[in-house]
Order: sequence, then structure tokens, then C-alpha cells
Amino acid sequence: MRGWRVVGAMILLFSWALAQAWQTAKSPGFIVQTASSPDRALLPQVFTLLQQARRELVLAGLSPPQTVSVIIHPNLPSYTATTQQPWFILAVSDRRANTIHTQRLRILLERGSLERTLRHELFHLSQPEGWPRWRAEGAAMRFAGDRPTAAPFPAIREAELNRLLAQPPSSEALARAMATAYLWAQRLPPTSQRGALLSVQSAIR
Ligand SMILES: [Zn+2]
Repeated sequence: MRGWRVVGAMILLFSWALAQAWQTAKSPGFIVQTASSPDRALLPQVFTLLQQARRELVLAGLSPPQTVSVIIHPNLPSYTATTQQPWFILAVSDRRANTIHTQRLRILLERGSLERTLRHELFHLSQPEGWPRWRAEGAAMRFAGDRPTAAPFPAIREAELNRLLAQPPSSEALARAMATAYLWAQRLPPTSQRGALLSVQSAIR
């Protein structure tokens, strides 16, 4: 009996390890890695959202990378260890690697932001080179359909805003910095809005 128990425990452990193993799914232009079955169940929706966002970015005159990798982390430790991001940042994009890292999709769904998060990060992988951080965040928010969730800072220097966006000390500071970036992007004079940003605005549904 004892032997069977050991075998049973090994089978359980093996199935658990299989369920946790990374699996890859592909759709034209996208490679998505998941390590949990609840995330895998949402893959059709994820691919539809990504393809739609890519079409809109191209229509807006931007150039999404040929192939984008999306890594959906199965838990917070995996996400934070890989990205070095705090828990309150749901996803992050690595422009050099054309890769998006996200927390579990259920977390994004619970916050009502699965679509907005994917669109926001795909925008970052497609944005023009050399934009200051605040401009990239403001434009990504507008493309994603994000709305500010806090009051903007009434007076803040550009360098300080960029620093807060890059390394936010708290979720509250991040929300205010994002609201400020959104506002500043909206206030760009028409000449500097020509091209990408203007077209992006028209692509917002
Ligand atoms: Zn962003």
C-alpha cells in the first residue's frame, strides 16, 4: 500500500509540474507563453485583442515589431523576479526584446483591463524612437483607452515626472504621474501631434 501511495504522490507531482510548465502558442506576429491552464483558456481572446491592436497601430502609421512575444506569468514571484517591477504594475514591455510580460490574466480581467493592458504594452513596442517617457505613457494610455484614475500633479518638472513613471514609489504616485502624462500628451501643440499621435487618437474607438 505504501508503495502505491508513493506512486500516487509522484503522479500528482508530475501532473502539477506539467500544469506549471511553460507552453507556447502562436498566431501570426505573436508568440504567447503561458504556464497555467486558466491563462491558456483565455488565449483565443488574447490573440484576437492583439491582432486587432496591431491592425489599428498599422493604420495609425506606426510599425509594430514583426514578431512580439507575450509572456504571461503564472504567479507574482515569477513576474517580479523576471521584470523587477512592483506588484501594482500589471504588465511591462521590453522594447529591445519585443516582449511583453504580464501578470496572470485573471488579475487583469478582475481589474477590467485585459484589453487595455495588452493594447497599452503593444503601443510601447510600436512607438517612435526617442520619445520622452511621459509622452510615450500619455500616448499609450490614449491608444489603449485608459482614463486617468487620479488627479494630475499641478506642477512638476519633466525630469521628475519621467523619474516617477520609470520608478514609481507607490501605486498612488504612479496613478498621478500617469494622469499627468495623459494631460501633457493631450496638450501637445498641433505641430508636434502631427503623424503618429494624431493618427493614434483617431484610431481610438
Ligand atoms: Zn506604459
